[in-house]
Amino acid sequence: MTLAWSPSRRGPLGVYLHIPFCRQRCSYCSFNTGPYHPAAMDRFHSALLDEIDLVGEAAWAGDVTIGTVFFGGGTPSLLEPIELETILDRLRKRFALDPGAEVTVECNPESLTRAKAEGYRLAGVNRLSLGVQSLDDELLVRLGRLHSSDDARRAFDAARSAGVDNVSLDLMYGLPGQDVARWESTVRGVLAWRPEHLSAYALTLDEGSRWAGEGVAGLPGEETVTAQYWALARMAREAGYEHYEISNYARRGFRSRHNQVYWRAEEYLALGPGACGFLGDVRYGNVKPVERYCTALEAGGLPLGTHEVLTPAQRKAEKVILGLRLSDGVPLAWLEDARSLVETWASLGLLEVAGDRCRLTEAGFLLSDSLFVHLL
Ligand code: SF4
Repeated sequence: MTLAWSPSRRGPLGVYLHIPFCRQRCSYCSFNTGPYHPAAMDRFHSALLDEIDLVGEAAWAGDVTIGTVFFGGGTPSLLEPIELETILDRLRKRFALDPGAEVTVECNPESLTRAKAEGYRLAGVNRLSLGVQSLDDELLVRLGRLHSSDDARRAFDAARSAGVDNVSLDLMYGLPGQDVARWESTVRGVLAWRPEHLSAYALTLDEGSRWAGEGVAGLPGEETVTAQYWALARMAREAGYEHYEISNYARRGFRSRHNQVYWRAEEYLALGPGACGFLGDVRYGNVKPVERYCTALEAGGLPLGTHEVLTPAQRKAEKVILGLRLSDGVPLAWLEDARSLVETWASLGLLEVAGDRCRLTEAGFLLSDSLFVHLL
């Protein structure tokens, strides 16, 4: 049995692979991840290869090109280079992996050594995304991270010395006890490393996280979080980074190609527990528990959980909302039915119209969640 739906074109497609293990759960984390154990990783790894084979049996599989591959998690850097290599080899065997494909691995600083980074690079990885989160050691402890700021720097240097010339850093702001000055200190520190790409997310207390359940003291107020957003926007701009998506900044030529697949509402395959994909007009997701995922594949079936066929109206709304996340914006014609909103937002400085396109400003990015509600 393979996937019942197919892509609408020959590609390039993105591929998201979910690696569902971490050594310890961070205080704020609600992701689909569980405790790392070598035996659990072995079983999962074998199931993942089976999943690639099953999806690769689809009649269209040999005809599509894979343009981006993203190993997310969890902590994908718990994979040994040989494990990652076998996954990429299996993808190459079943699909046409573009020789210029962007292949990213999310890494946590404590599990990235120079040897591992080099092994990944030799296996075909050309981009690492490093979960730094903060350069404030006290905050890192509160976040439940297993690394210090020095460890993060060591991991970044390891990536560089292994020849990885495209490194993204993940940061978080709006953290307990974090004022604007503490945040600026982290931003200043990481900008001095000259990464190719930065992602920065304000803390949210998502259901399923420890902090959402138990509460957390010392969260900064909205004014502080807003000031932190603007501090990053200013400092990144001054350092030559393009603010190309609500939460993402890049040096010229280093936007995340994989994430742009999402924001452009393009198609991508999902592999791994809880991974979500989009093919044709179907959004689908695998079952989340690793046990169920492995059992399904060991029985010869795909581990599918949910799927939803999008109506043309849903697709259109998604394309507009996702497209407005990018500084490229969307064709003005896509907002034909929302002309009065466009005019209002433009008059408030939240949106700019240039020729036949419109895009949110940085002020619009900041309020995007509440703006997008009006487009649904
Ligand atoms: S490393 Fe990432 S996925 Fe793992 S527990 Fe922390 S936030 Fe969650």
